[in-house]
Amino acid sequence: MATCLFCRIIAGEIPSKKVYEDAELFAFEDIHPQAPTHVLVVPRQHLATLNDLDASHDALVGAMVRRGAAIAAERGHAAGGFRTVLNCNADAGQTVFHIHLHVLGGRSLGWPPG
Ligand code: AMP
Ligand code: ZN
Repeated sequence: MATCLFCRIIAGEIPSKKVYEDAELFAFEDIHPQAPTHVLVVPRQHLATLNDLDASHDALVGAMVRRGAAIAAERGHAAGGFRTVLNCNADAGQTVFHIHLHVLGGRSLGWPPG
């Protein structure tokens, strides 16, 4: 989608600090990190919110989550812990309408979230 920020990052039209890419996923550093590790894992396919998922996306979402865990492990957070977050729409604070898995680690994270 030409106007979508994360589609443009995936296309290389907007710079990002790439962490990982494969045929279906792209991962990059969050521009306003909320923890020592704050990486976003996104599908190359434009999907605006979790409400747009159906069963055909199950493998894709599974790959997103497993990639997030792999990135956390690479950064040494597997044993100590890390958090993955998928925000959906206004009440969750979603600001970019291309689904993205936040991977946060490297500090103790409060619960419940705000
Ligand atoms: P959300 O609030 O779940 O929609 O998260 C959107 C995230 O995208 C926020 O954590 C932003 O800091 C991040 N973000 C916004 N613009 C950029 C960008 N150009 N590069 C990297 N991360 C970004
Ligand atoms: Zn997009």
